[in-house]
Amino acid sequence: IERTFSIIKPDAVGRNLVGDIYHRFENAGLQIIAAKMLHLSREQAEGFYAEHQGKPFYDPLIKFMTSGPIMVQVLEGEDAIRRHREVIGATDPLKAQAGTIRADYASSVQQNAVHGSDSTTSAEREIAYFFTGEEIC
Ligand code: ATP
Repeated sequence: IERTFSIIKPDAVGRNLVGDIYHRFENAGLQIIAAKMLHLSREQAEGFYAEHQGKPFYDPLIKFMTSGPIMVQVLEGEDAIRRHREVIGATDPLKAQAGTIRADYASSVQQNAVHGSDSTTSAEREIAYFFTGEEIC
């Protein structure tokens, strides 16, 4: 059993897609074991995306991620990291497989509806960035 970290980004929250996206996670065998709504500060967003600092898309990404509320959640299940990324689809919606969240809802590489951890190391870091141990059921 594995845990991963997930974000429903401001574009998807703003379009009332939270329920649909949670349904897709649950149908894929991913259990939501912690969740909350946040409106990220600039500092929180910069810390989360520190690895992208200096890239051309960094400033617009911070602006986008602080533009409205997001949902953050911890998902648990067998092979959760890979399974979550499968449900999400490729970063670029034009490359995402049909039926994935990004193929259905992303409007661009930046406004791509969701985030999912890409490794156990990043899952651990990202979960700890947003949740205390007590908040995870
Ligand atoms: P995530 O980490 O959000 O699941 P990812 O691992 O598919 O996405 P990363 O390369 O870590 O993608 O990029 C983080 C986020 O930065 C992307 O989800 C996207 O919103 C934005 N981003 C990445 N590359 C670009 C780009 N070339 N142009 C605009 N935005 C980008």
